[in-house]
Parts: sequence; structure tokens; C-alpha cells
Amino acid sequence: MMAADPNCIFCKIVAGEIPSHKIDEDDKTLAFMDINPWTKGHALVIPKEHSRNIYDADPEDLAAAHKTAQRVARRMRDRLNCEGINTLQSSEPVAMQTVFHTHVHVIPRYSDDGLRLPAHPQPGEHEELAGLAEQLRA
Ligand code: 5GP
Ligand code: ZN
Repeated sequence: MMAADPNCIFCKIVAGEIPSHKIDEDDKTLAFMDINPWTKGHALVIPKEHSRNIYDADPEDLAAAHKTAQRVARRMRDRLNCEGINTLQSSEPVAMQTVFHTHVHVIPRYSDDGLRLPAHPQPGEHEELAGLAEQLRA
């Protein structure tokens, strides 16, 4: 029996209690169309088992979700003729997470899709990068 949260909208989609446009399913994962797409064909892949996000998800579920994301991405390339893909997994509100059931966005990209991701990269300072690497090293 998969762990489910009775108040979670994506658990309700897994249980079939609310409708969704499903596109892929296996033992551990489900993929369906995003109700509010960023581009044509935007889909979501979720582990069937409830978790909040990257912090608490079972690593096997994260791996399975990304395997499904690859299948879906290849299908988008072949059937929608997209020119590229963004995958995105947002964890916690500061990172734009709004649904608190782990999910991976699979977003087909087209040269004319008009999507601009809100990133403003600046060159990193060597000393700062070295310090951060020190903090993060396993
Ligand atoms: P987040 O902002 O948490 O990374 O992404 C949540 C996504 O779920 C959003 O892109 C939103 O459009 C989508 N979404 C929210 N509620 C539903 C729903 O009931 N059905 C479907 N198919 N997508 C949903
Ligand atoms: Zn859930």
C-alpha cells in the first residue's frame, strides 16, 4: 500500500479521485498533463508514493520519476517535435513549489515558445566558490 496524504491533490490523482490527462504509468510513477502549462505539452511526473519534495522522497522514487521523465521527453521530441526540454523539480515555497507532493516538470521547448526562466547568472568569485565547495563536500 502506497503512503498517501488525504489532503494532497496529487495523491487524489494517483487514486483516481480527481481526473487528469494521464500519459504514462509504471509501478512507481505517474505522468499527466499540467493543468496550467508553461508551453505546449508541459507534463508532470510524480512518484505514486506521497512525499513532500526532494528532502524526504525515497531516492528510488526520485530515480524512477526521472526515468519516466526521460521516456516522456523522448515522446515529446518524437510526437510534438519540440526542440528541447527543461526538467524542473521545485522544493519548498522559496523555490516556487506550490503543490507539496514531489513532482518533476517536463517542459517541451520550442524556439518560439516565449518562455523566459527567471535566472540572472553572474560570474562566481573563485574564493567564494572554493568556500562553498568546502561546505558542501561529501
Ligand atoms: P510547482 O509550482 O509545485 O512546482 O508545480 C505544481 C504544478 O501543478 C503547477 O504547474 C500547476 O499548474 C500544476 N497543478 C496544480 N494543480 C493541478 C491539478 O489539479 N491537476 C494538474 N494536472 N496539474 C495541477
Ligand atoms: Zn501526495
